[in-house]
Amino acid sequence: MIYLDNSATTKPCREAVEAMVSAMTDNWANPSALYGFGIDLAKQLRSARAQVAAAMGAEPDRVFFTSCGTEADNWALFSAAKRFGKKHKHIITTAVEHHAILNAMKELEAQGFEVTYLQPDREGRVTVADLKAALRKDTFLVSIMMVNNESGAVMPIAQMAKLVHKLNPDAVFHTDAVQGFLKVPFQAKTLGADLISVSSHKVHGPKGAGALYIAPRLRSFPAFIVGGGQENGFRSGTEGTPAIFGFAAACAAGAKTFKEDIARERELLEYAIEKISCMEGVAVNGAHEAPHILSLSVPGVPTQNTLNLLQEDGICISAGSACAKGHRSHVLTAMGLAPEVIDGAFRVSLSRETTREEIDLLLKSLEEKVLPFRLKGKKR
Ligand code: PLP
Repeated sequence: MIYLDNSATTKPCREAVEAMVSAMTDNWANPSALYGFGIDLAKQLRSARAQVAAAMGAEPDRVFFTSCGTEADNWALFSAAKRFGKKHKHIITTAVEHHAILNAMKELEAQGFEVTYLQPDREGRVTVADLKAALRKDTFLVSIMMVNNESGAVMPIAQMAKLVHKLNPDAVFHTDAVQGFLKVPFQAKTLGADLISVSSHKVHGPKGAGALYIAPRLRSFPAFIVGGGQENGFRSGTEGTPAIFGFAAACAAGAKTFKEDIARERELLEYAIEKISCMEGVAVNGAHEAPHILSLSVPGVPTQNTLNLLQEDGICISAGSACAKGHRSHVLTAMGLAPEVIDGAFRVSLSRETTREEIDLLLKSLEEKVLPFRLKGKKR
C-alpha cells in the first residue's frame, strides 16, 4: 500500500503504540484515584501534558486534553460565544474552514450571532487586509485556520492575531491548527492566538485525543463538557489515558525530528510539483505552502474515477472534500476554480514516512492510468 492520505489520518508511530499498550496493560488506573497506583497515573498524565505542551510551545497548565480536534474547535467557539457573546454578536471566520468550524458557526448563526466568512484568493489564501476590512467594533470572536486541509495554504495567524488584539483588545482569536501542528513552526506562547486546537491522529498519534490551548488571559474560559471536574475543571470525563499517552509520545517523537521531517516533505512535494508541471492534463491547485498537502486535478476525470484507478495500484489518496456526499468542495469553490477542475480534484498528503519511490509510483500511475482515462472519455 502507498499511503498518501496523511491529512486525513496518519499511521500511529511506534512510540505512540508502546505508550498506549502500557496504558492498557500496566498503567490503567484512574489518574484521579487517591492511592499510589492512581497517583502514579496522575504523574504520568502531568508528563504527557508537558510533552504535548512542549511540542506546541505552550505552558503545560494551559493545555487541556479533548477527544479530538473537532471537540477542541467546538469547545473554542461555543464557549467563546457563551462567555464573550452577550453584548457583542459579530464573529469572523473564513469560507474555507473545516466543517468542525463551519457547522459550529451555523449553530451560532441559528442562536442569533452574525458570522462573516472571509473569502480566499485563487490560491486559497486569506489576507490580513481582508480581516482588517471585516473587523467591526462588535466583533468578539475571530476563528481562522492555520493550514487549509485542501489547498495547503498557510494563513498569517501571528499577524492576524496581532491585528485583532490591537483593534479589538477584548476579542478572542482562535486558530484551528489541526493541519499546522508539527507541520509549520509556531509557539503557542508567542503566536498571539488565545485558543489553539490540535489533534493527535494527524501527528502519528492515535485517534481519540486532541487538545485545546487556552491562553493565560482566558482564565475563566467556560468548560464545554461538565462533570467530575477533570482537567482542572475545564473538561470533565475520566481522562482517556491510552489515547492521551499515545498522543504525548507521538508529540515527543515528532518534535524531535520536526525540522528534518518537514524539510524532507517539502522537498518531496516540490519534486512532485516539478514532475507534474511537465504532465499535460494535471493541474496543481492552491498555494501548497504547507509541506505536506498538494491539491491536484485532472479535469475531465471525475475524482472518484481517479481514486479508483489509483487504488488499483495500491495508492490511497483522498478526494479532499471534493465530492463529499456529492457536493463540490467548498474550499475549491471558494477559491473560484472552474467546475471541471473541482470535479477532477484530489488531494495527495505526505508524512515523514513518505518516500520518493512512493511519489514516483503515484506519478507513474497518474501518467499511465489516469491521464489515458481522460482521453478515452474525450473520444467517446
Ligand atoms: N480541522 C481541520 C483543519 C482538519 O483537517 C480536521 C480533520 O481532518 C479537523 C479539524 C478535525 O479533527 P479531528 O479529526 O481530530 O476531529
